[in-house]
Amino acid sequence: MSDFPTKARVVIIGGGVVGASTLYHLAKKGWTDCVLLEKNELTAGSTWHAAGNVPTFSTSWAIMNMQRYSTELYARLGEEVDYPMNYHQSGSIRLAHTKERMQEFQRAMSMGRYQGIKMEMWTPEEAKEKYPFLETHDLAGVLFDPSDGDIDPAQLTQALAKGARDMGAKIIRFCPAQGVTQHEDGTWTVHTEKGDIACEKVVNAAGYYAQRVGEWFKPYGGRTVPMMVMSHQYLLTEQIPEVEAWSKANGGKKLPLIRDVDVSYYLRQEKHGYNLGPYEPNCRAHWETDADPMPDDFSFQLWNDDLDRIEDIVADAMERVPLMQTSGVSSVINGPIPYAPDGLPLMGPMPGVKNAFEACVFTFGIAQGGGAGKVMAEWIIDGATEWDMWAVDPRRYTDYTDHDYCVKKGMEVYGNEYAMHFPQHEWPAARDKKLSPVHGAVVAKGGVMGAFNGWERANWFAKDGDDTSLEATHTWGRSGPWEARVKEECEAVRDGVGVLDLPGFSRFNLEGEGAAEYLRGKITGGLPKAGRMNLVYFADDRGRILTEMSCMRHAEDHFTMITAGAAQWHDFEVLKNDLPAGISLTDHTTEFGTMIVAGPKTRALFEALGVEADLSLGWLSHQDATVAGTPCRLVRVSFAGELGWEVHCTNQNQPALYAAITEAGAVPFGMYALNSLRLEKGYRAWKGDLSTDYSMLEGGLDRFVKLDKPQDFPGKAALFAEKQQGVAKRFVTLIVEAGECDAPYMSCLSYGGEIVGETTSGGWGHRVNASIAYGMIRADLAVPGTELSVDIYGESFRAVVQEDQPLWDPENARIRA
Ligand SMILES: Cc1cc2nc3c(=O)[nH]c(=O)nc-3n(C[C@H](O)[C@H](O)[C@H](O)COP(=O)(O)OP(=O)(O)OC[C@H]3O[C@@H](n4cnc5c(N)ncnc54)[C@H](O)[C@@H]3O)c2cc1C
Repeated sequence: MSDFPTKARVVIIGGGVVGASTLYHLAKKGWTDCVLLEKNELTAGSTWHAAGNVPTFSTSWAIMNMQRYSTELYARLGEEVDYPMNYHQSGSIRLAHTKERMQEFQRAMSMGRYQGIKMEMWTPEEAKEKYPFLETHDLAGVLFDPSDGDIDPAQLTQALAKGARDMGAKIIRFCPAQGVTQHEDGTWTVHTEKGDIACEKVVNAAGYYAQRVGEWFKPYGGRTVPMMVMSHQYLLTEQIPEVEAWSKANGGKKLPLIRDVDVSYYLRQEKHGYNLGPYEPNCRAHWETDADPMPDDFSFQLWNDDLDRIEDIVADAMERVPLMQTSGVSSVINGPIPYAPDGLPLMGPMPGVKNAFEACVFTFGIAQGGGAGKVMAEWIIDGATEWDMWAVDPRRYTDYTDHDYCVKKGMEVYGNEYAMHFPQHEWPAARDKKLSPVHGAVVAKGGVMGAFNGWERANWFAKDGDDTSLEATHTWGRSGPWEARVKEECEAVRDGVGVLDLPGFSRFNLEGEGAAEYLRGKITGGLPKAGRMNLVYFADDRGRILTEMSCMRHAEDHFTMITAGAAQWHDFEVLKNDLPAGISLTDHTTEFGTMIVAGPKTRALFEALGVEADLSLGWLSHQDATVAGTPCRLVRVSFAGELGWEVHCTNQNQPALYAAITEAGAVPFGMYALNSLRLEKGYRAWKGDLSTDYSMLEGGLDRFVKLDKPQDFPGKAALFAEKQQGVAKRFVTLIVEAGECDAPYMSCLSYGGEIVGETTSGGWGHRVNASIAYGMIRADLAVPGTELSVDIYGESFRAVVQEDQPLWDPENARIRA
C-alpha cells in the first residue's frame, strides 16, 4: 500500500469520537503529521450507538470545563470543517426531588455562571409551563441548562475526521494496531498488518478495548488499565402526535431533555417520540468472567434487549410524562460503555511509560470528546494542560485497582450515575484494598474509615451510640454524627496529645552522587541541610504548581521524599523524569507506617514512654530514635499545627508503637480533624489549593521560589516574568460567616456583584471557632479586610480576607515549643 505512512509524530489507536477529536486538535495546534488507526470503520466501538446527549452539567470543575468546551466546539464545528451536522441545543431540565438536590443544582449553576453557562432555577410551575407534558406535583425545583443538547455521534466523529484530514493528518481505517515496540531513545514503532509506523508518541484511544491495547505497554513500564465494561440501554418509543404538535407549535423546536436524577434516567425527544435512557441500580457488567469473555471484535454490534432490568425506571418515567403511556417501544439499543472505577475517563500521560498517553474509558465520550481532544493535544504537544486535569489523570489510580475492584466500583458508579457526592459520604464498594498494620486497632477504637489511594484511614472516631450509617452522610452540611467527635479530636490535639495513623503516605528514596544537584535543578527553592526537612515545590514550565513534597535529607546526596497518598504515581514520575544515571529512585510507600503525634503534651508522652532521642531538637529536624523500646524515626513537623512529631517506622514496628502511644493517653484523631487543623494553619492541600491552575506566585508560595539560584529549574523564566509583571490572582485565607455548610471547592467569590475568584478548600476551624475558606482572588483584592461574598450551595455569605499568616498560632510558637 503505497500511501501507507511509515512515520508520524503521533499515532492514535482508536477511531471513536475521542481519537478523532485528539487527531483534530493535534492538527489544529500544528501537529498535522499524525496518524489515527482504526481497526474497523470510524465509530465502530461505543460511538456509533451512543444516544448523543451533550450536557455541560457537572459538579467537577474540570469535567464541566471539558463539556462546556465541547458544546462551544460542536456549535461551530460544522461550519469550521464544512461538514453539516445534526446538533440541537434544545436545553435540558434536571428535576430535584429534595432540598439536597436543589443545593447540588445551585452549586453547579454557580460554577456554570463562572464558566459562562447561563443555567436557571425554575419552580415546578415554571417547568410545567415550559414542558406541558411533565408531572411536577412532587418536585422541589428544576434546573434549566440552555446549552444542553444532543448531537449525531457518527456525524460528529466524521466532522472531526474531515477537519483533521483537511489539515493533513491521516486516518487509516480497517487497520488494527497489533502491538508496539519502544526503542532506546523513547520513540515507538506501532505494528499493523499493513506495515509498521515509527512515531514519537502513541495514544491509547481504544475505548472499551483500552485494557487490551494497554497490555502492549507493560514491557515498557505500563500497568493493567483500570476499567470494566457495562451494558447500557436506551429505548426509543413510537412517534407521539402530541409531541409532534408541540414541536410544530413551537417553530420546530424540541422539548428540553429531562434528567430525573433522583430516579436515574434521562428522557429526550427523538424525532416526535422519546429516547429513554436509564442508569439502573440492578445493572449488568459484561466481559468480566471467563464464561463471558470479551470477543476479539465487537465492531458495530449490540447485545440483546434486557428490559426487565429497567422496567421500574420505565414505569417511573411514564408517571413523570404520562404521554409516554400512549406509545409503544419501537427499538432498544444495548451497547458497551467502558467504566473506570470512578466513572471518569483516563486522560493524560500513561502511568510508567514515556511518550505514551491514554484517552480512553469514556462513559460520556460524546459530551466530553470535544474537550478531551483539546486537553490531549495540550498534553501531547505542551506537556501541560490549560486547566488542571487531575480529576481524569490516569495516575490517580495506583496498584490497588485489580479486576475485582474495577468491576465492583464500575457497577457502583453506574448504578449511582446521577447520585449526589456528599463530602462525608464514602462509597462502600470494593473497600479494604490496602490496610495499615494497625488497621484492626484503629477500627476497634471506633475509626469510621475512608479510602485514600486505596488505603483505609480513619475519617473520625465514633463513640458508642453514634450513627455511622451511610444515610447519615447524605448532607452538604457541616453537622452530622461526626461533628461533635471531630471537635473533641481537635481539642485533644490542642490541649493534650492526639495520634493519627496515616498509612499510604507516599515515600521515595532518592540517593546517589549528584542527587542534591539533580533536585536543585527541579525544585523552585532550596534544599534542607542533612538532618533537616523542608517543603519543596516543583513547578511546570509555566511556573504553575506541579506538586509539593516534604524533603528529608539524610546526607549530601541522600533524601527521603514524602508526598500525599494520592500523589504516589504522579510524584514518582515527577522525580523520575530525566533522572540521571547513577542516582537511584525507589518507592517505599508500602514498607513504612507514619503516625502524626501532636499536641502540647507530646514531649511528655514520649518521655513517659521512654525515648532514646533528643526531643529538644528543633522544628524541621529528624532523627533515628526508639520510643517505648521500638525503633522509629522522629520527624519534628506537624500538619496539625501543634508541638509534635511524625513517627515513621517499619510496618513490623508499628503495632507496638501505636499501642504504646495510645495506651499512654494519645487520643486517636482522624482525617476530618486533620483537615480542620491544617486549614487553621494555612497549610495547602494537594490538588485543591495546590494545582496547575495556579502559579507558585499566585499560590502565595513566593518564599519557596529562589529566582536567584543558579539552577535553571522548570518555570524559572515564567516566574521571573510574572514577578516583574505582577500576579493576576492571589491566594487568600477567608473567614466566612457561613450557615450550615462550609464552602466547598470552587465556590464562587464575588465583589460588588462580579465574580472575582473561587475557593480552593473550606471547612470549620474548631480552634478558632470559625468557617475558613482558602481562595484565589483578583490580586488587587487580596488585602486584609476586603469583604467578599461567597456562594455556598446557592446562598451568599460574607467572607473577609485575613492577614497573610496562619489563623491559629501565627508566630508558630506552639509548633516550635
Ligand atoms: C447505549 C449507549 C448510549 C450512550 N449515550 C451517550 C450519550 O448520550 N452521551 C455521551 O456522552 N456518551 C454516551 N455513551 C457513551 C459513549 O458512547 C462513549 O463514551 C464514547 O463513544 C467513547 O468514545 P471513544 O472514542 O472513547 O471509544 P469508542 O467509540 O469505543 O472508540 C474506540 C475505537 O477504537 C478502535 N480500536 C480498538 N482497538 C483497536 C486497535 N487495536 N487498533 C485500531 N483501532 C482499535 C475501536 O474499533 C473503536 O472504534 C453511550 C454509550 C452507550 C453504550
